[in-house]
Formats: sequence, C-alpha cells, structure tokens
Amino acid sequence: MDFELSETHQQLRDSVRDFAEREVRPKAIEWDKQERFPSEIVPKLAEMGLLGIRVPEEYGGAAMDTLSYAISVEEIARVDGSLALTVASHNGLGTGHVLAFGSEAQKKKYLPKACSGEWLAAWGLTEPGSGSDASGMTTTAKRDASSPDHWIINGAKMFITQGSVGGFCVVLAKTTPEKKQKGITAFIVEHGTPGFSASKHLEKLGMRSSDTCELSFEDVRVHDSQRLGAVDHGFLDTLTILDKGRVSIGALALGLGRGALELAIAYAKERKQFGKPIADFQAIQWMIADSKAELDAAALLVYRAAVLADAGRPFSREASMGKLYASEAATRACQRAVQIHGGYGYTREYQVERHLRDAKLCEIGEGTSEVQRMVIARHVLGG
Ligand SMILES: Cc1cc2nc3c(=O)[nH]c(=O)nc-3n(C[C@H](O)[C@H](O)[C@H](O)COP(=O)(O)OP(=O)(O)OC[C@H]3O[C@@H](n4cnc5c(N)ncnc54)[C@H](O)[C@@H]3O)c2cc1C
Repeated sequence: MDFELSETHQQLRDSVRDFAEREVRPKAIEWDKQERFPSEIVPKLAEMGLLGIRVPEEYGGAAMDTLSYAISVEEIARVDGSLALTVASHNGLGTGHVLAFGSEAQKKKYLPKACSGEWLAAWGLTEPGSGSDASGMTTTAKRDASSPDHWIINGAKMFITQGSVGGFCVVLAKTTPEKKQKGITAFIVEHGTPGFSASKHLEKLGMRSSDTCELSFEDVRVHDSQRLGAVDHGFLDTLTILDKGRVSIGALALGLGRGALELAIAYAKERKQFGKPIADFQAIQWMIADSKAELDAAALLVYRAAVLADAGRPFSREASMGKLYASEAATRACQRAVQIHGGYGYTREYQVERHLRDAKLCEIGEGTSEVQRMVIARHVLGG
C-alpha cells in the first residue's frame, strides 16, 4: 500500500472492495449497456453503511470520516463509475447539505430515510443556462404573497444526478436576485410535490447507469420549514458542500484509473504477441509505469484533502488540486488501459472502455478542470 492507512480505514477498504467485487462487478457492464439505474442494489448499499457514510449514528448513519468517504467511493469506482457517482453525490451533495446546514427537524426527517436508501438525495445547482457560473441561475423562490410562510419556486435544473430516482432534491434558487450570489437560498423539495417533475432522462457518453435528469419547477409551493440554511446564504453554503464533493470526485477518478490499470496489468501478462506476453515489451511497461506513478500521486493529493477536512483545517485548494490531478490522471490511465488491450479494449465486452467513458465525467462534474485551475490559482495568487 502506498499511503499509511489506519487499520480501520484498511478494513473499510477491504470490505467495500469485497462488496464491489461480489455485488457490482458481475453486473456493471450490463447496467451500463441498459443505461438503467440499478435500484435493486440500493438496499445493499444501505446495509454497507454507504448511503450515510458521514451521518451520525443517531440519524441512522455510519458516522465515518471524510477519508472513509473517499475510500468507499474509490473502491466502488474501481469496478463501476456510475454506482460510485451515486454514492458520491448522494452522500456529499444532497445528504451532505442537509447534514451540514439542516435544522434538527430536517435532519430527523431526511437523514434516516437517506441512510436507509428509502430516499436517495439529489442536489440541483446547475441549470440549462448556468454551469461554471452557478450564480447566473434563473430559478427563483418568492414568498407567497397570500401566505408568507410559504415559498413559490419556478425554474429548471440540468444534469441532476438521482434526479428521477431520488426521494428529495436540495434545490438552489434566487431569493434576492439583485444580490446575485449573495441572494441564493437552498430548499428541500420532495418528489411528489405538485409542480416538481423530472422531465428528461439524459443519454450520456459515460456514467450511463447513473440517473441524470433535467428537473422542472412550476409554481412549486413549499413551506418555510423546507428552507435549508439561512435566507440568501445558499451559495456560500454550496461552496462548502462542493469542497467535500470534490474530494469524492477525485476519489472516484482515482478508483476508475486504478481499476483500469489493474485490468491492463492482468491483460498485459496474459496476452501474447511475437511469442511472449506483451508485458515484456518496454512500450507497454512504460505505459503501466506512467499510470502507476500518476495514480499514486493522485491518491496522495486526494487523501491529503480528506485528512485536512477531517482535521477541521482549510482544504478547499487541496480538494481542487486532488480533483483536477486525479481526474486528468484517470483519463490518461484509462486511455492507456484501452491501448494495452488493443482491439479488445475498444469493445464493450471488456471493462476498460467503460472506465474511460466514465472517467471523462470527473473532468467536468462538480466544477470542470478549468474551474479547478481557477480555484487553485486564486488561492495561490491571493484575492
Ligand atoms: C453526468 C453529470 C452529472 C452531474 N450531476 C450534477 C448534479 O447532481 N447537480 C448539479 O447541480 N450539477 C450536476 N452536473 C453539472 C456539472 O456540475 C456541470 O456540467 C459543470 O459544472 C459544468 O457546467 P456546464 O456543463 O454548464 O459547462 P459550462 O459552464 O458552460 O462550461 C463549458 C466550457 O467552458 C469552460 N469555462 C466556463 N467558464 C470558464 C472560465 N471562466 N474560464 C475558462 N473556461 C471556462 C468550462 O470549463 C467548459 O470547458 C452534472 C453533470 C454531468 C455531466
């Protein structure tokens, strides 16, 4: 092992790896081909504590730390990026937002159901017209003139993970539009609330068995008790949520890259050309060496961010560095893995092409690589 993990973290890695090998790997290719969210695996994720990783036990969670969250996501991603995206976003975004900023009543209502898998959590920030510049959102929440205890939400959200299979969605909306990012508030909207619908299942390059939807809000009326955090504080709270989310996307990329590298090593030892295993050729060895070195460097960056978060120290820059480096290293490692597999790597019968398609998302979701570079540069340069 390349990083000194505690015995507890090592045991967690072993048990999630065992679960992923038994329950996920045999089905991942099929789920991807069918582009179907595997709801049958949700109770098993819950049993493993993977739907409430950081949630305290009093709300039904596993009460683990951020490093455990990263290791869990990495191990699922080693065999299936889509399911890892479910675990990452459910824990880090929707559930994470309720955990970090919810009232006691909200925690009691939503967290036990999130941990048991009864209600998967979605999180809606991105819109059709606003992504990297999230403050450009146009979804609004206005006080209901006839009943000031209620809000009326109107707008649309784009690319929302668990958008149609989730039980509730944390949605960000402008409450004081003239204050731009300082005028945004978060709300919890339950599925079944009149006017709230998942309008489109999006077909994607990768992460195909993860549920990604466009959401629509038409005069959705919610009580003020569904407001999550202080009025006009949603955007600032979101930055905190995204920092932890970026640790998990870095870990997801790491798992995809490591999984592809393991497959490439096994294939290189077994496949013979010119009378010997292709692993004997220096060209193949160098690809394997580059992937191993880059992924181990990525692991150190991602784990460092997690450890800082657990120590209560600033980790925003480190989370961006981990996500940026791990996602780009994973794409390179997956490309090499396809190359090492030759023509077979290009077919859907082998797993490496799926890893490559899934890895690309890590350079885009929860802030593109360009946005991560902007965050890092801002920290380095100041201002
Ligand atoms: C599978 C999937 C799942 C997702 N899940 C969720 C989810 O659950 N919840 C959610 O809210 N969102 C989710 N997203 C949205 C994701 O976070 C956004 O796609 C991402 O933030 C980029 O936004 P955009 O797609 O609008 O791209 P844009 O912001 O339009 O960017 C387009 C290009 O321009 C570049 N660019 C933009 N601004 C700058 C700049 N200032 N300088 C340099 N380059 C710039 C970008 O880096 C990118 O290359 C998901 C996306 C996908 C694909």
